[in-house]
Amino acid sequence: MIKSGRHFYETMEPKIFNPNEHQDELASKIVVGLERISEVFKVMLWEKAKNIGLSPIQIQLLIFVAYHKNELCNVSSLAKEFNVTKPTISDAIKVLVKKDLLIKDYSLADSRSYAIHLSAKGTQVVKDTESFANPMRGNLETLNQADLEQLYSTLSKFIYQLNRSGLLSVQRTCFGCSFYEMKNRSHHCNLLKKDLFDKDIRLDCPEYEERSA
Ligand code: SF4
Repeated sequence: MIKSGRHFYETMEPKIFNPNEHQDELASKIVVGLERISEVFKVMLWEKAKNIGLSPIQIQLLIFVAYHKNELCNVSSLAKEFNVTKPTISDAIKVLVKKDLLIKDYSLADSRSYAIHLSAKGTQVVKDTESFANPMRGNLETLNQADLEQLYSTLSKFIYQLNRSGLLSVQRTCFGCSFYEMKNRSHHCNLLKKDLFDKDIRLDCPEYEERSA
């Protein structure tokens, strides 16, 4: 009998989170590994947030605003960036403005929207919190250079793949940039006018310009 529909699909797919089933299936084990890593990230962020009385998304917003240009610091872009709804971002901004950590800037062409900037107090909070992921970096630094470069090369391609498949909404990586081209079998940036090694590929480039489809 031919199986059909959802049931057939489910029985054919390996069950990612069943350790008895995924032993010989590398992609599933990597997904489990990435989930573990995301847990570490969450715990580190929660720990820091708890200590200074802000929520994780509020800390992420402050750090993002500190290092990104105005055009990316508005409600719509931030909602996309953090995969949350616009009301969630608006609420977080409201609290941060009230706490005197962010300033709303209404000087944009469209008077109904605003960009946000850090206040002096917000800049200090960023200085106090941005180290939250240092333990992760410290552990990565125990790997040898070749392993680090291999990991980064795979990671940068995987992030681009997630974006292409629609699972990751925002990326500012070379692979999707209008200045990027493959030249003589090397990555090349036409803005910087130089070849890039795998380790030079940017994940969040300030000069990124989305390539037209
Ligand atoms: S401008 Fe930035 S993102 Fe674009 S190719 Fe050059 S380095 Fe990469």
